[in-house]
Amino acid sequence: MTPDFPEYALQAIARLNAAGFEAFLVGGCVRDAVMGRRPNDYDLTTSALPDQIEAVFAGERLIETGLKHGTVTVLLSGQPIEITTYRRDGGYSDHRHPDQVTFTPLLRDDLARRDFTVNAMAWNPETGLEDPFGGQEDLARRVIRCVGDAERRFDEDALRILRALRFAAQLDFGVDPATAAAAAALRRSLELVSRERIAAELTKLLCGPAARRVLTEFWPVLAVCLPELAPMEGLDQHSPYHCYDVLEHSAAAVEAAPPDRITRWAALLHDAGKPACFTRDEAGRGHFYGHAKVSAQIARELLTRLRFDKDTVRRVSQLVELHDYPIDPPEGSPDRAVRKLIGKLGPEDFFRLLDIKRADALAHHPDYRGRTAACDRLEARARELLAQPPCFTVKDLAIDGNDLLAAGVPAGPELGRLLNELLSAVVEDRTPNEKSALLRLARSLRETDQD
Ligand code: ATP
Ligand code: MG
Repeated sequence: MTPDFPEYALQAIARLNAAGFEAFLVGGCVRDAVMGRRPNDYDLTTSALPDQIEAVFAGERLIETGLKHGTVTVLLSGQPIEITTYRRDGGYSDHRHPDQVTFTPLLRDDLARRDFTVNAMAWNPETGLEDPFGGQEDLARRVIRCVGDAERRFDEDALRILRALRFAAQLDFGVDPATAAAAAALRRSLELVSRERIAAELTKLLCGPAARRVLTEFWPVLAVCLPELAPMEGLDQHSPYHCYDVLEHSAAAVEAAPPDRITRWAALLHDAGKPACFTRDEAGRGHFYGHAKVSAQIARELLTRLRFDKDTVRRVSQLVELHDYPIDPPEGSPDRAVRKLIGKLGPEDFFRLLDIKRADALAHHPDYRGRTAACDRLEARARELLAQPPCFTVKDLAIDGNDLLAAGVPAGPELGRLLNELLSAVVEDRTPNEKSALLRLARSLRETDQD
């Protein structure tokens, strides 16, 4: 394998080698390169100690944020590259952070401390791939498997449980049976992990292409992090619209939504209030009156607990609250409804709302998935409206006096009055600012005037 790593990363290896140190690309970038994916970033592991790394890269911009764990970040050609000394992690009394890290001269020790076999490979141009734990084979089998004894590794650091599920969702991999069993057995230790870290891993999991499968398959583990959502599992909706329970429906909606953090969190949470709102009528049919509001409240509490920033909390819960709102009312002007909602949410979140509505529809019984068509129509119309230049004065109207003259309006004061009336109609959203619509309106205004 000769993956094509960027020149600056190869340069960094060459410079460490020239100073007499071993150096390898390691972790996620090697995994991604072997899979033929584009890595996010490039990490190096080296036998050089931190001050030796600094000496090798003297003159370059260095960032020392990770120094106590042996990490130096170097900016090469404007790109940050993390360079970490080979290390072993000793003792994990808090089930999260190593009590101390010790440097080691052996690459193998450094690979052994890494979480999963697919993340425990190293590569450099001279030796090629170093893969002592069968990472390549697991990539080919598409499984996440702990390096070493899974229970021990999860007991050391509970965050790895969530990382395993996150990688399974991101890469669309299975989880090796022993690793999955250890995740289930030790799931409670996730309560010891910081909420920010849980949030970050859950977001990556939700944005993964296999989020739906991982959510349903590993729900007992994930419910430890999302106890507010536990009642969604197994709640039969007793409705012809639905063929899934609330959890399966929500997981299907997540995956049907574009992989954007706000959209996917909203998709996961949109029906969180259903268990609390569930009633059945005489015919036995399930109803969930008012569930969108309750879902939004749950979303606010859950996301705040997970330490999401205020803006994210507000936007996700707003989308959750509106997921059921009929944008396109049977009476009234659809343009006005669209503009009003764009005004409230901003264009980005307006389109997110349509994405959520489509995803929700797609997660229904197959007979009811056609409801996406209404969203497609609204989206097309909203794009047209947004493409229209704003209209503040008569000059901004899509027609002018000459158009009205051509349409038979006599020259004189009536012309100016008519243009002003058309302007009010556009500003109040009673008509789109489009030539044919304005001429039609002008005609009917004149008719009523003459009556
Ligand atoms: P991503 O593409 O999300 O960046 P990654 O594999 O690079 O994936 P990082 O969180 O950047 O993930 O970690 C880099 C590497 O460090 C991992 O590939 C793994 O080898 C190791 N690692 C990270 N976190 C842990 C952990 N909690 N326990 C053990 N090893 C870890
Ligand atoms: Mg990384």
